[in-house]
Amino acid sequence: MIRVAINGYGTIGKRVADAVAAQPDMELVGVSKTRPSSEAYIANKRGYPLYIADIKKKPAFEEAGIEVAGDVEEMLKKCDIVVDATPGGVGKDNRKIYELFNVKAIWQGGEKHEVAGISFNSSCNYRDAYGADFVRVVSCNTTGLCRIIQLADEAYGVKSVFATMVRRGADSRDIKKGPIDAIVLNPVTIPSHHGPDVNTVLPSIDIVTTAIIVPTTFMHMHVIRMELVREATREGIIDCIRKHPRIGIVKGYTGITSTAELRELASDMGRPRGDLWESCVFEDSLSVGKNNEIYLFQAIHQEADVVVENIDAIRAMMKGADTAEESIRITNEALGLKAI
Ligand code: NAD
Repeated sequence: MIRVAINGYGTIGKRVADAVAAQPDMELVGVSKTRPSSEAYIANKRGYPLYIADIKKKPAFEEAGIEVAGDVEEMLKKCDIVVDATPGGVGKDNRKIYELFNVKAIWQGGEKHEVAGISFNSSCNYRDAYGADFVRVVSCNTTGLCRIIQLADEAYGVKSVFATMVRRGADSRDIKKGPIDAIVLNPVTIPSHHGPDVNTVLPSIDIVTTAIIVPTTFMHMHVIRMELVREATREGIIDCIRKHPRIGIVKGYTGITSTAELRELASDMGRPRGDLWESCVFEDSLSVGKNNEIYLFQAIHQEADVVVENIDAIRAMMKGADTAEESIRITNEALGLKAI
């Protein structure tokens, strides 16, 4: 069994923890919090050993009735690999302690590529992470872009990509972020950082991206144009997407044309927390232009798509599966993920 710890049990950390606990070849040895909170309470409820960053705060946890197993250093002694899901910019400072305790580590997209030197997406570069000590799983937006670009590149060759990310303003429980009534150019400069981030995984792709933020909490929407090398048909692209284990098709007959309806669909499907781990490409948006370029809309659940990638990164780094296909199959089966 691969022994996994989660440092930072927040939006991403709690989801990765549940996904680890569901895997047949992984054991969750613990999760960490900085202060007593509803998430600390839930960790106890789920039977996940709870470790804390500052052991001096143990009495505060105990007063709240929350059981503490020890400090983060003790958690690191028990694991083979740690998933760092602390807030963006915090994780990089933890590298020293991971090195000290000789554990492998995975960071999230809020950290820079340099924190690990390998940026990861299961379908694109699984073997780059094979046996590696340090890996960064790219952000939710970059994950969504990488999946669809790699699919098109493999099938037809991609000459260039232009994509606009319409981003959610905040995660649903985040009461401190906005906007409430604005469309924000973020950044106002073109291109945005997402294109270069795609290049950390797919270095040869010619890509320009822009990004704006809107007042919603569930999912990002991507508007994508890809110029292809070989002649493509709409049916051919749909066929490739059908075969992809992490890209789903929002079928035309469903009448779904919004993220709100996708949230309802995820809930109706009984997905935990209403999570959509797969990218959701709108079938009716897919079209091929006269210069052999394709256009599409895809919705990306920001809190969910990177979760399954973290699980594959663990398996790659621990040499638990030789190929991406094998790891993706195990991860998806354990979670009951069959792309929509
Ligand atoms: P979050 O704020 O929801 O959770 C972070 C958790 O880390 C919190 O529980 C916090 O208490 C804990 N923490 C803070 N400092 C800590 C420390 N020093 N030691 C241990 N724990 C500490 O953040 P998040 O949204 O889960 O983001 C985590 C990472 O994932 C970031 O790099 C972010 O950019 C990336 N990411 C987030 C999303 C998203 O939509 N939320 C999507 C993809 C990637």
